[in-house]
Amino acid sequence: MIFLPTLENIQNVLSALRKGEVIGLPTETVYGLAADATQDHAVAHIFEKKQRPSFNPLIIHGYSQDAFQGQVIWNDKADMLAQTFWPGPLTLVLQRSPSSSLSLLASAGLPSLAIRVPNHPVALNILHLFDGLLAAPSANLSGKVSPTQASHVEEDFPDLLIIEGGSTSIGLESTIVDLTGLSPLLLRPGGISREDIESIIGPLKTPSFSPIKAPGMMKSHYAPSLPLRLNVEAPLQGEAYLAFGPTPYEGPHILNLSQTKDLAEAAANFFKMLRFLDHPPFHGIAVAPIPLTRLGLALNDRLQRAAAPRAL
Ligand code: AMP
Ligand code: MG
Repeated sequence: MIFLPTLENIQNVLSALRKGEVIGLPTETVYGLAADATQDHAVAHIFEKKQRPSFNPLIIHGYSQDAFQGQVIWNDKADMLAQTFWPGPLTLVLQRSPSSSLSLLASAGLPSLAIRVPNHPVALNILHLFDGLLAAPSANLSGKVSPTQASHVEEDFPDLLIIEGGSTSIGLESTIVDLTGLSPLLLRPGGISREDIESIIGPLKTPSFSPIKAPGMMKSHYAPSLPLRLNVEAPLQGEAYLAFGPTPYEGPHILNLSQTKDLAEAAANFFKMLRFLDHPPFHGIAVAPIPLTRLGLALNDRLQRAAAPRAL
């Protein structure tokens, strides 16, 4: 359902976001499926709605550069780009700060975060009043084109609370620049030109692989250091166990993704539980079978990548 951005409707959006629900948010690039970026459950609902068979890291939207204080580690180039192009269609990838309160699921387990300040009055108003950060990928079902009007969002998500923000002025995704390495990388061309960015921070390199098409293949992508065994009903001696649903096993080496076999709950817990178990004295992590439906597809995709032999 599409709602005009009246005071009352914005209040409804804010309370939905606080409850961990997903809403349709206009930005200047494309409409987003937005949820509270600090709540794992809320972020899991975004992935559930999009029906994407894998987790990709989401862009985190804030009201201003200050809103990201304590979430990422800033550097001079990031500072200059933010001051020049924000609010606007430029996403910066920076190291996640150890003090970050953002959901690990929102960055698909990566040690970095992609952040941006959108240049749209309705998005900025909501971010300001929400006084927090919103994770938001484009508001289309996986495989469909990005929505540039509220009605496009409604076609894919008829039950979603969508705020009307007119036709998006840019209509193209944000440019993504990765500033976590020695040289800045252009991860995705978009609403701000390469030349404009290079005029501020100098030459951008283009990665030889495409992290956008296959985020799980990114070099920096979190892979557990312990070996994983999948579809395991009974863990071996010395293995930690990531259960799904009722299990007879108990102890500090057992974590349960979801006692009730709720896939959204499992997705919300996935990255933090995997990290938690990825330590000695365990010498491996066994993972229970997870059904290949809904969010289970993305969970299995991520597990398979993590269990695959590592390229050197
Ligand atoms: P969008 O489809 O506009 O929501 O943008 C999401 C894209 O941003 C992902 O598919 C990644 O390519 C990129 N991205 C998001 N977070 C990160 C990150 N932490 N590191 C690298 N790229 C990221
Ligand atoms: Mg998209």
